[in-house]
Amino acid sequence: MRVDNDGAGAVTLNGARYLLIRPETLAALQKAVESALGPRAAECLAAGGRAGGARATAGLEGTTEERARRLAAMGGAIGWGQFALERLAADGMVVTVRRSPFAEAYGPSTAPVCHLTRGVLESLATVTLGRPASVVETGCAAMGAAECRFEARPA
Ligand SMILES: [Zn+2]
Repeated sequence: MRVDNDGAGAVTLNGARYLLIRPETLAALQKAVESALGPRAAECLAAGGRAGGARATAGLEGTTEERARRLAAMGGAIGWGQFALERLAADGMVVTVRRSPFAEAYGPSTAPVCHLTRGVLESLATVTLGRPASVVETGCAAMGAAECRFEARPA
């Protein structure tokens, strides 16, 4: 993993442009979108995750499982939490994330809040399952769970 700062305002990670952003910034954005749109906000955030996830997964090489493990390792390296690939089979994928910055910055919630991560994992699952996939966050640290848990299935 190579991080470069060109000294002219651009940071790249393995050649792809990134930016550092405080989790509180995203949590405030998320809450504002939720106020404006209600339940539809979650899908807007997931769409953002899918866009970034599609770029990230396109750059991965190796077998399906290797790619899934590389993306999980990358998630940890860029501060999205400690990812673990719990299960990967033809009919689904389960990923857990400890210390999700999205859950920590959001604060207590009665519903899952890690929609950006969910979107990224939908892009990954579409690749690993070989067909469009949907992901449900079945447990979230913002709801008091020890870790966030994402279950992917073919859509
Ligand atoms: Zn979560």
